[in-house]
Amino acid sequence: MLETLKEQVVHYARKAQNAGLCKHKAGNVSVRDPETGYICITPSGVDRDLLTPDMVCVVDKDLHVIEGGKPSSETLMHIACYREREDISAIVHTHSAMASAFACLNRPIPSFIFELFVFHLDNGVIPVAPYALPGTTELAENVAATVKRSDLVLMERHGTIAVGKDLAEAYENADYIEELAKIYYTILTLNNGRDPKLFTPEDFRAWKYPDQIRQ
Ligand code: 13P
Ligand code: ZN
Repeated sequence: MLETLKEQVVHYARKAQNAGLCKHKAGNVSVRDPETGYICITPSGVDRDLLTPDMVCVVDKDLHVIEGGKPSSETLMHIACYREREDISAIVHTHSAMASAFACLNRPIPSFIFELFVFHLDNGVIPVAPYALPGTTELAENVAATVKRSDLVLMERHGTIAVGKDLAEAYENADYIEELAKIYYTILTLNNGRDPKLFTPEDFRAWKYPDQIRQ
């Protein structure tokens, strides 16, 4: 069942591993089927080079395994995020290096670059979800509460989570968190550890597509 979605999970899980966002079998990827509400999710602890669509697990929102073996140990977290966000259909959780460094310092990434406004972020800031032991209900609830207000999230002392309307968007968001973390780190390095001038929510709201362009 849900063969196309399982193929997407394999594609993006592999892409995340190859891009270095999910090394050493870290992280997990899921997508929600709009009709059944079932979630296709990576199995726990499997190298993405060895992952095939038939290994992708299908679970329902009450954590019953419908198909496959042992789903990701973070399945609770994925389900809690889908519960909080009716508008999303895909989640990518990574341990990408630079973003994880900021997450370990419990340090949100501030609104330092204008591009941040395109994401649904509180004040253009990538927030940090409070730490809890991986795989627990507590972590699931901490992360879901933060995902409620942001598509891009750092997970304290752990990694990142990105959500989207589909896997392409969730993956792009996950990739972008790492990119922003690298840029922010470079700025701090060049600027003696100090923040650059930050954008305000008003700055973000002022943007519109130029009306001089006639279509
Ligand atoms: P799984 O392999 O069980 O999905 O766990 C990886 C992970 O990132 C745990 O936080
Ligand atoms: Zn993890």
